[in-house]
Amino acid sequence: MKQYLKRAWAEISLPNLESNISLIKKLAGSSDIMAVVKADAYGHGEGEICHFLEKSGIKYFAVSNLDEALQVRGFCPESEILILGYTPPEYAGYLAENNIIQGVLSKDYALELVKYHKGVRCHIKIDTGMGRIGLKYDTPQECAEEIKNIINIDGLEVEGIYTHFAVADSDDEDNIKYTDRQEKFILDTYDILRKQNINLRHVHFMNSASLCYRANPASTLARAGIIMYGLCPNYPLPIPEGFKPVMSLKAVVSHVKAVKKGDCISYGRTFVADREMKIATVTIGYADGYSRLLSSKADVLLNGKRCRITGRICMDQLMIDVTDNDAKEGDIVTLIGTDGNETITADELASLYNTIGYEVVCGISKRVPRVYIEK
Ligand SMILES: *Cc1c(COP(=O)(O)O)cnc(C)c1O
Repeated sequence: MKQYLKRAWAEISLPNLESNISLIKKLAGSSDIMAVVKADAYGHGEGEICHFLEKSGIKYFAVSNLDEALQVRGFCPESEILILGYTPPEYAGYLAENNIIQGVLSKDYALELVKYHKGVRCHIKIDTGMGRIGLKYDTPQECAEEIKNIINIDGLEVEGIYTHFAVADSDDEDNIKYTDRQEKFILDTYDILRKQNINLRHVHFMNSASLCYRANPASTLARAGIIMYGLCPNYPLPIPEGFKPVMSLKAVVSHVKAVKKGDCISYGRTFVADREMKIATVTIGYADGYSRLLSSKADVLLNGKRCRITGRICMDQLMIDVTDNDAKEGDIVTLIGTDGNETITADELASLYNTIGYEVVCGISKRVPRVYIEK
């Protein structure tokens, strides 16, 4: 293993990633897996993750933008890479030269692309209810007509259509119907095209949530993001059994001290000891992506026990209550992960400050080295 500074680091478990992938393969059935590796593989480190996925037989990758696509192309020379979002059309040459598939959001956009370069491969994005990007029509008939107009543009290689679900992670009845309608819209559109002898290779709509709760092999690709990393599309709704978080976050105890009743801890004096206590300082802070919103709310693990954060989280350090813990300088502190019988997940942290596990792992900053665990 490469040397790294043992101050604050993220351990990325490749065995857990591997076992998540085999579970995803089972759920996906006949659909091919498209690994979503945008945002530095959800903070897990694009390079190593892409290498590993490619070795595991994954052939399709999805990213959010051209910079990410070019990075992934460097790691995976043979893979298919789809850019889900917008690329300024003047970069069409980069797309073609690097054999990258572009999401096409409108006919005007398609016309711009071919102005700059011919031969760009693309999948057309349909807005069936997410309200973000893509062709938006009241009926599949109208939508299919516009798709045909785009297909007929000279110099564009249309290979598929796709859409994105807004509430596939919900178990609410109304939301389930909403997703049913989104799914039906794109499949009907695809069918209309097929009946007119327009056979696109791909139609895809499955994200992690739909893969978990309503897998449908009619989606030629399963765009798996968050579950690949072992987190929940909608905590605390359960994900299928067996998925394991891939990232752990660790730091060390730098200092241990006794404090008296009335002593203050950290900025703002928000924490005042109400008795004699033992306090430890830990080498991680909000500049590492561990949110300041977790001040006095979250626990960390030390010697297999939970310890509460005391007072405000600082830029590079935070303090914890170790009154009942045998803490000493140099001990390893687990902020996300397992120590003994205790586990703290990114989803649990997210629920403490009203966000989602996605934001927690994506937010772990560049300063934190990613360490890959292979055994
Ligand atoms: C991010 C993204 C995904 C992956 O979503 P998960 O919930 O992480 O599975 C799939 N499709 C699109 C269009 C996305 O933007």
